[in-house]
This record gives sequence, structure tokens and C-alpha cells, in this order.
Amino acid sequence: MNIILLGPPGAGKGTQARRLVEDRNMIQLSTGDMLREARTSGTEMGRLVADVMDRGELVTDDIVIGLIEEKMSGDHRGGFIFDGFPRTLAQADALGRLLERHGSALDAVIEMQVDDTALVERITARSTCADCGEVYNDITKPQPADGKCAKCGGSNFKRRADDNAESLKQRLMEYYKKTSPLIGYYYAKGNLKTIDGLGEMDAVAKEIAAALG
Ligand code: AMP
Repeated sequence: MNIILLGPPGAGKGTQARRLVEDRNMIQLSTGDMLREARTSGTEMGRLVADVMDRGELVTDDIVIGLIEEKMSGDHRGGFIFDGFPRTLAQADALGRLLERHGSALDAVIEMQVDDTALVERITARSTCADCGEVYNDITKPQPADGKCAKCGGSNFKRRADDNAESLKQRLMEYYKKTSPLIGYYYAKGNLKTIDGLGEMDAVAKEIAAALG
């Protein structure tokens, strides 16, 4: 099964993708994670995209399509969860071609709806465990008092450089301008399933499971 998790920054795509990896043995392909990794490892591409990402703008289609293409040629297991990709119509067309080349297809596009006020609240309070990626929220799910991640016991927590009010404003503008047209694109193809992404993590996971059937 191949699915896309579609939604604005802070909708919970990464959190739900990790759940699906555990529950269904699928492979999470997050272009945001791939780009952050390129930055950390100091590659030429990582240096090229750093400023663009920190400003909250989109990286060029060629770069992200190249990253996805490379990963899709590896292990398939229970299929792919595309998280944060595609973000433009050109990326969506490219993904269609890549899947076709692999003799595969898209099974569902899950649109996760969350209103802007909740997104801002979630993102500006967000931190993650540097070791396992578990997501915390200063208000609704604070880091454990003993300073150890509840999931893996790690003690390194990080906040994303672009999780600040100014970059977030730009990221939301990019989403509405360039990514939200994908909702109509996939609706027209009959792939779209819309869910409420505002609830608790377990409730959202249940909605996704129901949508996937
Ligand atoms: P994310 O972790 O998905 O929120 O992505 C973080 C940042 O990486 C975005 O704000 C963009 O700068 C860049 N990025 C991630 N995925 C894409 C994509 N599919 N197309 C263009 N830029 C992307």
C-alpha cells in the first residue's frame, strides 16, 4: 500500500507516519527529514537548502524529487508513506510517474485537516527526542520531568530551527499557495480521504485506519 499524508505544517503527518511504520511495516519517506539529515551531514545539497528551509520556503522540485526517487529504489516492505511530499503539482506529477515506473500506484491520500490557530499552538510548543523522534508539546505533552524520553529513554531533545512564529507564517503561506491545490488534484483522481487531524493522537490514528480500510 502506498499513501500520502497531506496537510499543513503541524498537522501531525510525521507522528502518524511513525505510527503506520510500527503498525503496518510501511516505510516513511519524509522529505523534511531527508533535507534536515543532508544539512546535519554537511553535504553540498544540505548547504544549498539550509537558508531556504529556515525561511520556511519550499526547496526546489528537482531536489526533493531526486531524494524521493533515490529512496524509492530501495526497500519497499509494506509500501511507502509519503510524508511532506508531494508539496507542489509538479511533485505530484513526478510521484505518479515514479510509482508507475515501479509498477505501483497510490492507494490513498489522507488529507489531515487542522485549523491555523491549533497549528500555531502545536508548532511553537513542539520539541522532539533527538534519538527516536518522539514528539512532545510544552502544553499538552511536556517532556518527562526526569529528562528522559518516555519512549526510548534518550535525554537529548531538540527544537526545529523553523518552528518559530516568523518561519511558520511563511510555511503556512507556502502550504496554502502551492500545496493545497493538491487536495483538488487528488480528489479528481478519486484518491482523497479527508480526516479531522485536531484530536488526540490515538483518535487520529483510528480515523486514518478507518480511511485506509
Ligand atoms: P517538513 O519537515 O515536512 O515540515 O519540511 C521542512 C522544510 O523542508 C519545509 O519547510 C521546506 O523548506 C522543506 N521541504 C520538505 N519537504 C519539501 C517538499 N516536498 N518540497 C519542497 N520543500 C520541502
